[in-house]
Amino acid sequence: MSLRLYNTLTRSKETFVPIDAAHVRMYVCGPTVYDLAHIGNARPIIVFDVLYRLLRALYGRDGVAYVRNITDVDDKINARAAERGVTIRELTEDTNRVFQADVKALGCLDPDVQPRATEHIDEMVELIERLVAKGFAYVAQEHVLFSPAAMDAAKGGWPRYGALANRSLDEMIAGARVDVAPYKRDATDFVLWKPSKAGDPGWPSPCGIASPGRPGWHIECSAMSWRRLIRDFAGKISCDAADANVFDIHGGGIDLVFPHHENEIAQSCCALDTPRMANVWMHNGFLQVEGEKMSKSLGNFITINELLHTSNFGGRKWAGEVLRLAMLRTHYRQPIDWTAKALEEAEKTLDRWYGALEGVAEDATEPTEAFMAALQDDLNTPGAIAELFSMASEHPAQARASARLLGLLQMTPAEWKGLREADLAISPAAIEEMIAARLAARAAKNWAESDRIRDELVAKGVALKDAKDPATGELRTTWEAKR
Ligand code: AMP
Ligand code: ZN
Repeated sequence: MSLRLYNTLTRSKETFVPIDAAHVRMYVCGPTVYDLAHIGNARPIIVFDVLYRLLRALYGRDGVAYVRNITDVDDKINARAAERGVTIRELTEDTNRVFQADVKALGCLDPDVQPRATEHIDEMVELIERLVAKGFAYVAQEHVLFSPAAMDAAKGGWPRYGALANRSLDEMIAGARVDVAPYKRDATDFVLWKPSKAGDPGWPSPCGIASPGRPGWHIECSAMSWRRLIRDFAGKISCDAADANVFDIHGGGIDLVFPHHENEIAQSCCALDTPRMANVWMHNGFLQVEGEKMSKSLGNFITINELLHTSNFGGRKWAGEVLRLAMLRTHYRQPIDWTAKALEEAEKTLDRWYGALEGVAEDATEPTEAFMAALQDDLNTPGAIAELFSMASEHPAQARASARLLGLLQMTPAEWKGLREADLAISPAAIEEMIAARLAARAAKNWAESDRIRDELVAKGVALKDAKDPATGELRTTWEAKR
């Protein structure tokens, strides 16, 4: 069985062959920490966490390096900090702290490295100076700009500019034509470095530019992936010379294909003189609300934090594992419609799976072959989850071992039950008291009172189940959390 992944660059599903099977290297574009992450932002985090877990299962725990950056220099950060009257450092630290707690609650492992853009300015400056020295970039009015035309003219053995996004130069010129900055030679040129106004964060500029400046957005990922996945592995990777500056997998949301990833490729290929930046380019589809991409700019977003801790979505809060299962029930390349109904279904499914696990001892069971086959087919999580459904009642231990590869069923059944009960508007002891009162009402043939008690419990999220004790014929009532 081999791992097959869909590669945006070739538009096909390919067998994954690592450059060095002892060190599989993956980079994923992480959050810009100016505001809390919304549940759409959580999609790449969860999807690539599943891939990370799968790669660790296939290549060994220490055989995988996963880098996900933190973008802590950005115009939106400056604006937000000024608006709130806090320092940039305070804003980015606070936002990052909540982000880390949120994605932990979603069951995601920490990446091996979470580099910050502001800690990799030296690498950005070095790449920019190389690009200027080689004629791929130029200085104009204290900016440094990258020239896609120069990249294409050089025919350096790399794909043409626009190959990842499958766009022609004409389309890109048309797209860039609005408000072209006067210092650009061509409409498609993009910023590598720009001057900082007084009060904005600034660093000594490259290429002899006198005033302090700051990086454009795209250069940071070329710099961080180079530093963390190429330079930090110098001497450790065994590969052909042509692969010396290539890593294995680069991921992010589909909106990053153009211009962000296209520009990362342009910068890295030209500065490092490599035919490829990464071998496999993976992109998750959008999470949508009523057919539209969830985004800050559209204002139709709900944050991970609100889903976990407030009743702002569907009138109640949701466990991280519920959000995770709801996310993984759709294949990562398909759009997802985010609804309270889907969350309720995911929760019911977890109730059932945890219920089947009660009394089942932890053992060393491995994920099943059918489950692994689904995951290895371009992360077919809906297929893998269908396998879990068919295993859950008959082979719960196997279901658990398999589910853990998806980051699910991480709790004990008792912990899950405790979590669900904590969500109720009533304590378990009070429920037992009401059940006893109801049984007394029934014994007295006071059906109205018995029904009233049951309805009151339903309103508090508790469902009752009546059954006759087979031995004594006595009525027994049990209850379940139904929210
Ligand atoms: P941003 O903070 O906008 O740069 O986004 C961070 C990550 O979340 C990127 O990988 C985006 O592609 C991804 N992303 C943003 N919005 C959505 C969405 N609605 N659905 C799926 N992924 C998204
Ligand atoms: Zn990036």
